[in-house]
Amino acid sequence: MGLGRTRSVGLAGVDGFLVDVEADVSSGLPAFTIGGRADTACAQAPDRVRAGAANCGFPVPQRRITINLSPASVPKVGSGFDLAIVVATLSAAGEVPQRQVDGVVHIGELGLDGSVRAVRGVLPLVLAARAAGARHVVVPVASAAEARLVEGIEVHPVARLDELVRRYRLLDQGRRPDPIPEPQLADAPSPAHPDLADVVGQAEARIALEVAAAGSHHLYLVGPPGAGKSMLAERLPGLLPALDHEQALEVSAIASISGRLAAVSGLCRRAPYVAPHHGASMAALIGGGSGAVMPGAITQAHNGVLFLDEAPEFSSAVLQALRQPIESGVVVVARASGRYRFPCKFQLVLAANPCPCGNAFGKGDRCTCSVVQLRAYAHRLSGPLLDRIDIQVQVPIPPRAALLGPAGESSETVARRVVEARAAQAERWASRGYSVNGRVPGPLLRSRPFRLAPPLTTDLDTAVDFGALSLRGYDRCLRVAWTLADLAGRTSPSRQDVGVALSMRRQHASAA
Ligand SMILES: [Zn+2]
Repeated sequence: MGLGRTRSVGLAGVDGFLVDVEADVSSGLPAFTIGGRADTACAQAPDRVRAGAANCGFPVPQRRITINLSPASVPKVGSGFDLAIVVATLSAAGEVPQRQVDGVVHIGELGLDGSVRAVRGVLPLVLAARAAGARHVVVPVASAAEARLVEGIEVHPVARLDELVRRYRLLDQGRRPDPIPEPQLADAPSPAHPDLADVVGQAEARIALEVAAAGSHHLYLVGPPGAGKSMLAERLPGLLPALDHEQALEVSAIASISGRLAAVSGLCRRAPYVAPHHGASMAALIGGGSGAVMPGAITQAHNGVLFLDEAPEFSSAVLQALRQPIESGVVVVARASGRYRFPCKFQLVLAANPCPCGNAFGKGDRCTCSVVQLRAYAHRLSGPLLDRIDIQVQVPIPPRAALLGPAGESSETVARRVVEARAAQAERWASRGYSVNGRVPGPLLRSRPFRLAPPLTTDLDTAVDFGALSLRGYDRCLRVAWTLADLAGRTSPSRQDVGVALSMRRQHASAA
């Protein structure tokens, strides 16, 4: 009978790759096989293709049909190849003109009734198609708005297989098919960030939050239940500048893979805020899961904030697993099918009660915990993880008088200072490839021309000499000192900035 070919795209982690889909229809006992490392969902495509095509009036011939998905070395996961498989098959059977579908990328799952259904990850898939030089992409109508976020590639939405076949036949006769009506999508409601003005009192925590936002520093909030730790954490994204185009594309692609972009008609331009429950599994937090390898919470928080409330309640394996991604900004999930890399440059905010009962160090100290309990609790958050936190701050229950006091500054006011401080950092580090103090490596901070003169770092040097500060902690203090200088409009940190940075790091160490 014949050979048909078209294209599709697959996903590995957050990166897409182009797939050539070939169909061969030959005489022999009726069979329909798929080669090229198809997973279970992908390997079931023949059932959907037979039923979907038949219900559209184009029955697949009762012959021997062989599909090849190439490159064969990469696993093909999910049902998104259905549309390309049915188009290649119908082309081989002579129902669809081959020259119309050659080089066109097809994305979509086929329903048994011939409808074309949305799949996850359309945004990164279309990005990959464009990167591979494709000029036309056919997507499910429900994913059209998402696909159009990618410029420089023509997007053709399709709702049903019969529509698509008719369309190719008309094009082959040199006629222009009518455009397919698309559902109107509302603009994504820009989520109203809670305002910092709602926070009563908490002068120290407010400063810590502003410094954390300005330099993208990791933050640890310690205080009794009800003091407002999560209230503060929720307000951090509202202080962060809007994402640039590149960051917005990355965040939107991750949301697309996680299935959270379906009803959105624009890029995610705000820093994401992800707050997983302390019962979250390793896969939910770090990435993985059964079937397709899904991004975890740390990747969903990429370019944004990851908030772990009641941090000591998370499993110690999960907390340990955070250490490497915090440093590298990338997590690698290893599977039998391969290794998947996910970006995860998140800003970490941890919150914890001072002790299991929550009352330690409070007014009148009504703590009922035993010494053993206290020690075990303090050990839940491992030293190496806490060592990677730049700022630790106490969040006490505000006194009643604070309720009557004047409202604090609004998020908008603070965000303006953050933007200025970020601009100063971006200018300073641009030639070195960094944009925020929180990501600048220690050796760079300790080398000329950024090395601070010895009198400025006396406090840090002494703390290291007495074993009160690790070498990693030393570097983290330097980063915070630079952010304090940027917020104050100074060109480099003063001795006072260094001292304040050290005290912001030590508050919890002295309490625990
Ligand atoms: Zn207690």
